[in-house]
Amino acid sequence: MTVENLHDVLVDMMKDAYHAEKQLVSALPKMAKAASSDALREAFASHLEETREHVARLETAFAAIEIKPTAKLCHGMKGLIEECKEVIDESSDESPASSDAALIAAAQKVEHYEIAAYGTMAAYASAMGHDEVAAILTQTLEEEKACDGSLTELAQSSIATAIQEGDQDSEDQSARVKAEHKSAMTRSRGSSATDNGESTGKSSKSKAARHKASDSPA
Ligand code: FE
Repeated sequence: MTVENLHDVLVDMMKDAYHAEKQLVSALPKMAKAASSDALREAFASHLEETREHVARLETAFAAIEIKPTAKLCHGMKGLIEECKEVIDESSDESPASSDAALIAAAQKVEHYEIAAYGTMAAYASAMGHDEVAAILTQTLEEEKACDGSLTELAQSSIATAIQEGDQDSEDQSARVKAEHKSAMTRSRGSSATDNGESTGKSSKSKAARHKASDSPA
């Protein structure tokens, strides 16, 4: 589509957001499933319901400007969801708080992307006098901001646990290194005792041989 005016820009952005929200409807259940804490799982589940509403709201906004609701591939959201999938794949049962922290970070990138998109769309709609559309988009914008705020609170409450997991990992690693070092030293002492024994023996022998040689008459 060639952009001819601000109206085209708004419609194009709405189509992009429509696709983005639909992608998110598919992704959020996987993120909820991957969450370790009940609070994060509930936050994702709750935002899934809101996201379904965002899709419906965009359809109302399209209707208000008499445009057929169509989705245009949103590359930005596609990439952000790919990152969410990576985070899910890399999460570990052994460090649930850190894995949740990574999920929150990925989810907040999604929210910030949406906040940027809805903020701009609402401003353009308002500037063109599409008050109904502006109001609809602003309502979603506020929900995205609230979701982002909830994620920040969840991150703050899980940070201490995530750091403890890191400390525990460091302690485990340090204990492993100490144990390996001790075992290596024991092996080394065992082998050097043998070496020393052998060399002492050799040395005694050579000393005895030297004595013998010096005792021998010239
Ligand atoms: Fe949304």
